[in-house]
Amino acid sequence: MKQIHTDVVIIGSGLVGLVAAHCLASLDFKVAVVDKKNFHNSENMTKDIRTVAVSEGSKQFLENLSLWKDLNKYSEPIKNIKVFNRRPSNKIYFENSNKNQLLGYVIKNTIFSKILRNKISKNQKVKTYFNSEVKNIVPSYDFSQVYLKDKVINAKLTIAADGKNSTVRNIIGTKIYKKKYPEMALVLNLFHEKSLNGTAYEIFNKTGPFALLPMLSKNNFYQSSIIWSNKESFVKNLLCSDNKFIANIIEEKVGEIIGKVKRINSKQSFPLSAHINEKFFNKRLIYIGDSAHSIHPIAGQGWNLGIKDVKHVMNLCKTSELDIGDENFCKNYNNLSYKDSFQLLQITDKLNAHFINNNFSNKMLSNIGFQIIENNISIKDRITKFAMGV
Ligand SMILES: Cc1cc2nc3c(=O)[nH]c(=O)nc-3n(C[C@H](O)[C@H](O)[C@H](O)COP(=O)(O)OP(=O)(O)OC[C@H]3O[C@@H](n4cnc5c(N)ncnc54)[C@H](O)[C@@H]3O)c2cc1C
Repeated sequence: MKQIHTDVVIIGSGLVGLVAAHCLASLDFKVAVVDKKNFHNSENMTKDIRTVAVSEGSKQFLENLSLWKDLNKYSEPIKNIKVFNRRPSNKIYFENSNKNQLLGYVIKNTIFSKILRNKISKNQKVKTYFNSEVKNIVPSYDFSQVYLKDKVINAKLTIAADGKNSTVRNIIGTKIYKKKYPEMALVLNLFHEKSLNGTAYEIFNKTGPFALLPMLSKNNFYQSSIIWSNKESFVKNLLCSDNKFIANIIEEKVGEIIGKVKRINSKQSFPLSAHINEKFFNKRLIYIGDSAHSIHPIAGQGWNLGIKDVKHVMNLCKTSELDIGDENFCKNYNNLSYKDSFQLLQITDKLNAHFINNNFSNKMLSNIGFQIIENNISIKDRITKFAMGV
């Protein structure tokens, strides 16, 4: 078998693994990126119609990595967020008091991934092994070995970034705590009549949250993405319905905001679950992004949380007394990332449980909570800063 030697091997080139590759290459490490997908053949790719709402904090990180200048023109800014609890009168409006920053930026996953892959293909420090599935991993305290079909990659640090159904986790035998939600997320991209003017909307319904995110307009049409968590049967029925029927339902729900639906461009469903690994490391291996943790998309923070993992890795690499991949490095990474992830998993899970609970006292509590937050600038400011990741 061919032997390859590198500093870091990253398994998984999703939106977290790719940013990690850029980040480590920018620190002068030699990086190998492995993915089972064949990115050279677009027909083999599964189409992901989702968008990612990049927080201001993550955008600043991408800026420092010189990635944002290529992404900026494909992103639509979020200037305000309006949150409704079932009725328009139960509302909280979030805006940022710092006029030099925005609340977030919406980018299509496919464009995001393509730009990041183009950048790494030009980076001498990064070697890609696409269309390559991981067969085995042998982590040890000296270096770890990642076995592909016809080669072995030897690295000081192995990073698992292979998503929520991580194969690495199965190979290593890392246990997880998992929760499956009975709802599914329906994702729709559509053209419509009215502009959202940089406002994102989140409507808490008794069946689950409904998010409306502004996207870059195209061919003079205003465009947005809807992420609608609802009962599995409802989502499946809607997916099978014709687009005219779906458009009518959307107009009934948010017609006042978006006007007439001009066209449904794409629709897709996603099962909803959350998990956290019992730990984020094993000898010279660490987990980042969805391979370590996945959360309910209620707050649009899953990818942003993965970027926090990458930031922790970067900061540890800059700590001179640590050797990349050694025991202290991996343990320190675990200590830094686990707390953030566990906290956000709890917050998103509880938020979702609270808003779908139809109990009278629960609804009363939500209404009072909405009024308090809406009228208290300091609480609002803290929530805004938390969502912005700054
Ligand atoms: C409906 C929905 C909406 C969302 N919206 C937002 C949002 O607005 N903002 C936000 O921050 N987050 C959002 N998220 C979460 C976000 O999509 C994920 O957190 C993020 O995409 C995870 O990226 P990742 O790179 O960790 O994993 P993935 O994107 O899952 O990438 C994993 C990669 O690993 C590869 N791989 C898998 N197995 C192997 C193997 N055995 N060998 C080699 N390669 C392998 C895969 O091919 C893939 O390329 C949303 C999630 C959902 C479900």
